[in-house]
Amino acid sequence: MTNSQTIIIGAGAAGYMAAITAAEAGHQVTILEKSNKTLAKVRISGGGRCNVTHDCSDPKTLVTHYPRGNKELLGAFHRFGQPETIAWFSDRGVDLKIEADGRMFPTTDDSLTIVDCLEIAAYRAGVEVRLSCAVTDLRFDESTSLWHLETTKQPYVASKVIIATGGGPKSESFSWLADLGLPIKTPVPSLFTFNLPSAHALKQLLGVSVPSGLVSLPKLKAISQGPILITHWGLSGPAVLRLSAWQARALAEANYETEVVINWVGAPRQQCLEHLFRMRKQEPLKQLSTFCPFDFPKRLWDHLLEQSELPDGLRWADASNTHLEALINQVCNSTYQMHGKTTFVDEFVTCGGVALKAIDFRTMASKQHQGLHFCGEVLDIDGITGGFNFQAAWTTGYLAGRVE
Ligand SMILES: Cc1cc2nc3c(=O)[nH]c(=O)nc-3n(C[C@H](O)[C@H](O)[C@H](O)COP(=O)(O)OP(=O)(O)OC[C@H]3O[C@@H](n4cnc5c(N)ncnc54)[C@H](O)[C@@H]3O)c2cc1C
Repeated sequence: MTNSQTIIIGAGAAGYMAAITAAEAGHQVTILEKSNKTLAKVRISGGGRCNVTHDCSDPKTLVTHYPRGNKELLGAFHRFGQPETIAWFSDRGVDLKIEADGRMFPTTDDSLTIVDCLEIAAYRAGVEVRLSCAVTDLRFDESTSLWHLETTKQPYVASKVIIATGGGPKSESFSWLADLGLPIKTPVPSLFTFNLPSAHALKQLLGVSVPSGLVSLPKLKAISQGPILITHWGLSGPAVLRLSAWQARALAEANYETEVVINWVGAPRQQCLEHLFRMRKQEPLKQLSTFCPFDFPKRLWDHLLEQSELPDGLRWADASNTHLEALINQVCNSTYQMHGKTTFVDEFVTCGGVALKAIDFRTMASKQHQGLHFCGEVLDIDGITGGFNFQAAWTTGYLAGRVE
């Protein structure tokens, strides 16, 4: 039997940050990892570049990017937030750069820079890593105040256990935590595309995008603005993904079947209609099909014209108010039926996990169990795309590993 002061379960971003923090403070630390690889998600993250965090240093603004965990993370970000994360990596030789959309990557554009940084820091601090070692049971011995861990390799004993096992869409993966009496929010996926029925005409526009559309889910009274992309499955892009994250649970409850309304221009209907009336005056001799008055691809314009059922070859001068109203309904109010979802492969995260009311966010400790801490995606915390999920992992990992 191996006796170790601090055991971290899970060798992901949060587990590594917790391990390094505890070990650098002088603790004896072992990470137990069920797979045969460390930092698997970090390696493939951000398309192989690892979107480490976001260009947002103010905790109050930063928390607005978390559909779950925003209240609880506020204090945590004040203790170890985005500026501290940047400094932490910089102190270990990794500089980050900011992209136009605010995402921050290592200047090398290579996720292995982050993997190497974490592995070297852990090695230097004396962290032991045991691979292919899944924790199968966890039990607290009141008489010794020690945790006993059963694993697929050997038993371990620890005075402090940090659970950093990540998310997962299946409830069963949280059952061992529920067995400890911890409240669990049922896991459901976050960050997914809205699928359309298989033969939907819009799918022929695969690859078409608009820069600033509005996506709304009327039944859920939810709306999001930003780029919209048409994919092989249906609707995607930042505006859709953001909505999928904020409405992750409501959409799961609706079984991913609901009405989706798109305003392809992102401006009010009346304003767009007046724009068309002006075009009628300015370009009377042009055909509607050859002159698109909005900032979006011709293919989408052709599609919307077709859906408006206007006469072929219609010139702007001959377009009646009724014609233009039919057209503007398509431009500003296209209605689709969502039919299932596809998780966004580049940054899949889980909504749900250990309920936050069970955690003291100063130390990430369980309020029920002595010496038991949590960090990362195993908690009911998730952010939208852009580096926010790793930021939550660095923050909660650091606080969990910090020695009180
Ligand atoms: C493809 C992809 C790309 C992403 N890109 C980005 C990005 O660029 N930026 C961003 O902010 N977020 C990104 N994310 C999200 C981000 O990767 C996660 O939020 C983050 O990795 C969570 O870290 P974690 O340490 O909590 O969990 P994980 O990274 O999932 O690590 C948990 C570890 O625990 C191990 N484990 C589980 N159960 C046990 C057990 N019983 N015993 C022992 N070990 C166990 C698992 O094998 C795993 O290694 C991406 C996600 C994916 C899937």
